[in-house]
Amino acid sequence: AKEAGRDTLRFFDPAMQAQLQRRAQLEADLRQALSRDEFRLYYQPQMGADGQMIGAEALLRWAHPARGMVSPGEFIPLAEENRLIVPIGGWVLETACRQLAAWVRDPAMADLTLSVNVSPEQFREPEFAERTLAILARTGAPPSRLKLEVTESLFVHDRDESRETMRRLKEHGVTFALDDFGTGYSSLSYLKRLPLDQLKIDQSFVRDLLEDEASAAIVASTIALSRSLQLEVLAEGVETEAQRAWLIAHGCEAFQGYLFSRPVPLEELAATCQAT
Ligand code: C2E
Ligand code: CA
Ligand code: CA
Ligand code: CA
Repeated sequence: AKEAGRDTLRFFDPAMQAQLQRRAQLEADLRQALSRDEFRLYYQPQMGADGQMIGAEALLRWAHPARGMVSPGEFIPLAEENRLIVPIGGWVLETACRQLAAWVRDPAMADLTLSVNVSPEQFREPEFAERTLAILARTGAPPSRLKLEVTESLFVHDRDESRETMRRLKEHGVTFALDDFGTGYSSLSYLKRLPLDQLKIDQSFVRDLLEDEASAAIVASTIALSRSLQLEVLAEGVETEAQRAWLIAHGCEAFQGYLFSRPVPLEELAATCQAT
């Protein structure tokens, strides 16, 4: 009765009701999106210190028939709640690996690493490692060029299972980046225990770098920490030449952000790569 009371109350708030309806519709559409072939992968270049392109991050886009491009910030949390992220994430990996296999055959793209985001819900599937290895084998993508981006939230609960999944994939050469570093639960102890290859400094710190001393201190220490742990470090969200110069002066060696390129469809990525 208490539950019903709460639901009844909601119906008297038109704004909230509209929001719930929009969400329910989005969820229904999301269930159809895979079979209707509405997902696209965009690619954002990752650059080295001397301006060459070293890799790219695959970023998911949903070409909704009525709403146009829906941002992943809107539909990924929804897909994580209702577990649609498992099949959607499978599509992302399959598509990214097919692309990676094609790059190996192209002299201009042959050395690039492709970074792919993996949600905790997807990573925790018992078959995640074996499915990913099967995709690599099926597509012919070289495992050592695939970098999986995971977030700190993955390691809060089932640390042992996640570490085992990472270990299994690393046996085959797959590498790992810790995404959004510094924004999560930040227990530094997992940096010691997990087989990570790269830290990605979150864009919120990079954005405020030149105006805010605390952000600058966090970025400088993250770079120093990465170097002493022998992890690669990449700064996300680099938008200005001044930010890039500061990061280089502090020892950062990899960069991603609008300064170089927004996420673009595949054809445009090839052009960026040729230009560097
Ligand atoms: P993320 O992994 O932290 O990705 C970086 C986000 O920052 C991307 O947003 C990118 O477009 C944006 N960005 C890149 N450079 C700049 C910059 O210089 N300035 C600013 N302001 N933003 C920049 P996007 O593509 O909207 O993706 C949002 C989030 O959605 C991602 O954050 C990631 O958490 C999630 N996501 C995207 N694709 C996938 C996917 O295939 N699987 C999963 N599980 N999550 C994904
Ligand atoms: Ca990412
Ligand atoms: Ca990030
Ligand atoms: Ca993120």
